[in-house]
Amino acid sequence: MIIDDQHYDVIIVGTGAGGGTLARKLAPTGKKILVLEQGDFLEKGSSQLVDVEVFKKESFYAPEKWYEEEDSFFPQTNYSVGGNTKIYSGVLQRLREKDFEKVQHQDGFSPEWEVKYKDFEPYYTEAEKLYQVHGNVGNDLTEPSRSEDFPLPTVDSEPQIEDICTRISKQGLNPAYLPIGVGKQGRTDSEDTGIYPTIKKYDNVTVKTSAKVVRLVTNASGKEVKAVEANIGDRSYLFVGNIIVLSCGAINSAALLLRSSNEKHPKGLANSSDLVGRNLMKQLMTVVVQLSNTPNSGLFQRTRYINDFYWGDENFSYPMGHIQNSGGILQDVIFSESPPILSVAAKLMPGFGLKQLAKRSIGWWLQTEDLPSPKNRVRVKGGKLYLDYTANNIEAHDRLIYRWIDVLKSIDEKQKIYPRGEAPIQVVAHQSGTCRFGEDTRTSVLDLNCRTHDIDNLYVVDSSFFPSISATSPALTVIANALRVGEHLINRLG
Ligand SMILES: Cc1cc2nc3c(=O)[nH]c(=O)nc-3n(C[C@H](O)[C@H](O)[C@H](O)COP(=O)(O)OP(=O)(O)OC[C@H]3O[C@@H](n4cnc5c(N)ncnc54)[C@H](O)[C@@H]3O)c2cc1C
Repeated sequence: MIIDDQHYDVIIVGTGAGGGTLARKLAPTGKKILVLEQGDFLEKGSSQLVDVEVFKKESFYAPEKWYEEEDSFFPQTNYSVGGNTKIYSGVLQRLREKDFEKVQHQDGFSPEWEVKYKDFEPYYTEAEKLYQVHGNVGNDLTEPSRSEDFPLPTVDSEPQIEDICTRISKQGLNPAYLPIGVGKQGRTDSEDTGIYPTIKKYDNVTVKTSAKVVRLVTNASGKEVKAVEANIGDRSYLFVGNIIVLSCGAINSAALLLRSSNEKHPKGLANSSDLVGRNLMKQLMTVVVQLSNTPNSGLFQRTRYINDFYWGDENFSYPMGHIQNSGGILQDVIFSESPPILSVAAKLMPGFGLKQLAKRSIGWWLQTEDLPSPKNRVRVKGGKLYLDYTANNIEAHDRLIYRWIDVLKSIDEKQKIYPRGEAPIQVVAHQSGTCRFGEDTRTSVLDLNCRTHDIDNLYVVDSSFFPSISATSPALTVIANALRVGEHLINRLG
C-alpha cells in the first residue's frame, strides 16, 4: 500500500453529474482538492457516438458484472470522466413543485422531501446557466415557477415531431419544449462543463483517472473518514483528506459504503439506520416505437415532451408519468431489447433492412415514477454487487403506454405498428434513493446538506439522496443539489 504524501482539504470520488459539478463549484475556493475517477477520459466527441451500434458493442456498459439473484448482467452505466452524463440525452428538466410533496400513487405514497422546490429553485437556475439549457416556458400545466427564464432558446425539432405535436395540440394536449443542455461541442456534460474547465484553470484541483476507490478508512472512534483507499493500475494507494464526498452514482456509492464496514460500522459505513442501499428507485421506462410512412434522419434530438398525464387523466386519478420523443432509434440507447423491437417491425414491414427501418422510426420514451421500497436495494456479498428490485406502480405505467398509443393512433390510423420495449434490470440510468436525505437519523442516511448522519466529514452528492424519483429525468436535480451542497461546503471550509 502506498500512502500518498499529500493532504487534501476535499476528496471527491466520481466525476458524473454530482462530482463533476461539485469540483467546479469548489475549485475557486483555492482549497486543495483531489478528484478520483475509476474511468478514463473518453476520446473527444465520443458522447456523440451513442447509438445502437455502440450499445450493441457494449462500449458503454460497465466492465463488471452485477447480480440479480444468481444471474449476472453488465449494467448500462458508464465509467469514464463525466460518468453517465457522457452518454445521457442531455434532457435537463426540473422536478415539479408537487414532486417535493407527499403524493398518493395507486401503489402507495411518494414521500415528501424536507427541502422544497423553492429551496432548490436558485440552484436549478444556476445549474441551467452552467449547463447551457435551451428551453421555453410553454403551455405545460405541470411547469414549476421560475425566477428567471431559460438561459437559451429552444432547439428545433424534426418536422415529423413538430407535425405530431401540432396534431395532438388540436386534441387539447399540451406538447412542450424539452429543456436540453447543448453547448458548442454538442450535449453539455460534467466533463466539458465540470472537470475540464476546472483542471484547465485551477491548479489546486488534481484529477486522477483509472483510480477506483475500494474502501473508506475511518479513525479509531469511527466518527471520521481518515483516508480513501484506491486501486490505480496494480497498486493500492491511500489518500488522506479532511472532507470526503462520494459521487459514484447511487448504486456504487451505496456499495462502497457497505464494502467499507469495520468494527465501529459493522453494517457498512454511515449505516446505523440500515438504509444504505435500500429504497433503490430507477423509474419504469418503456420505449414505444412508431413507424412512419416518411423517412427521417434517424439522428435527431430529443426536443418535445408531453406531461398531460403526469398527474393522471380523467380515467385514472393517480400519477401516470412523462413522455418525450427519443433521439431516433439509430442513435438512441434503446434497451437491450432494441434489436428485437426492430426485428419485430421488420417482419411486419417486409422489404426494409433494419437501418432503413430505423430511419422510419420515431421513438417515444415513457417514464413513470417507481415508489421507494426498502426491499428494492443494493447488497454486497462475497465481493459481488446484487440488485434486489421488483417494480411497483406497474398499472400506472401500463395506462400511460396505452393512453399514448391511443393518442398516436388517433392522429394517423394508417400507422399500425407500435412495438414496445421495457427496461430490464440492467437499465439503471435513473438509479437513485440508496442514501436518502432527511432530518430523522432513523429514516434517512444523509442530513439535509447530504452529510452522513453518522460520520461528520463524509458526504454523498450523487442521485443517492433522492427520497423519491418522480417521473422526471434526474440529472438537473443532481447538478442543482451538487451546487447547493457545494455552497454548504464552501461555508464549512471557511
Ligand atoms: C443512457 C443514459 C441516458 C440518460 N439520459 C438522461 C437525460 O437525458 N436526462 C437526465 O436527467 N438524466 C439522464 N440520465 C441519467 C443521468 O445520466 C444520471 O442521473 C446522472 O449522470 C447521475 O449523476 P451521478 O453523479 O449520480 O452519477 P454518474 O453520472 O453515474 O457518475 C458516477 C461516476 O462515479 C464513478 N465511480 C463509480 N464508482 C467509483 C469508484 N469506486 N471509484 C472511483 N470512481 C467511481 C463512475 O465511473 C462515474 O464516472 C441518463 C443515463 C443514461 C445511462
